Amino acid sequence: MWQVALSLTLAVLICFPAAIASTSTSSLPNPLAVPTLAAPVPTAARALPACSYADETTPLAGYDDWALTLLDTRYALPSSYVPADLVSTKAAGLNGGYLVRAVAVPDLAAMAGSAAAAGAPLAVISAYRTYRTQSATFWKWVRTLGFNYALLSSARPGHSEHQLGLAIDFKSRGGPLPWAYYSWARDTKAGKWMAAHAWEYGFVMSYPAGKTKKTCYGFEPWHYRYVGRDEAAAIHASRLVLREWLWLKQPQMIS
Ligand SMILES: [Zn+2]
Repeated sequence: MWQVALSLTLAVLICFPAAIASTSTSSLPNPLAVPTLAAPVPTAARALPACSYADETTPLAGYDDWALTLLDTRYALPSSYVPADLVSTKAAGLNGGYLVRAVAVPDLAAMAGSAAAAGAPLAVISAYRTYRTQSATFWKWVRTLGFNYALLSSARPGHSEHQLGLAIDFKSRGGPLPWAYYSWARDTKAGKWMAAHAWEYGFVMSYPAGKTKKTCYGFEPWHYRYVGRDEAAAIHASRLVLREWLWLKQPQMIS
């Protein structure tokens, strides 16, 4: 039922920044109502854990670990995580006003160029986001929509891929904000082009349709994360969602 309740408005909120002061969180309830495992899971099994809510520092939190850094509703970045190589998205030939890690710029530029050449030009509507901004975003939606709905729709501070400086929200250049409609990936040139080709340039859609139990969030056809071409190609071939893939890549962990 929660899937039904996840309205259009709610599902856009991982990406939508706000400017409201924040507080901290702990001991959060799980709106998916899936019990977490109490006992360690054998590493060999590597079964993807159900979505749970905690504030554990993700195991691969170094700046050089960016391709494999797992962020979900359980694992988070430290509040001090601020990449040193942030540059304007203008460096990739896109609109400015947003920051992205320099490591992603060559592939981002290539992707933007190919999309434009295919008649599907892109624009950036969000990229790097600070811990503080994400906190403001989350708590705005808690106040607006209630805590449980906000958990399904908005990353808590530290848990957002935007803090990596490698997640970008796109729209069609000149078009409306993509969260005005779910069909961006199906019914627009830019959305369709991205769904088909982003992986070729190292970008993956983090929260695809119908996968909320695995991704822990609602469908976000506009949100892509850069993981590099090799990882993205492997993920595409595996047909796994990003969280499943990254879970398999983590060092020894218990669940
Ligand atoms: Zn986003």
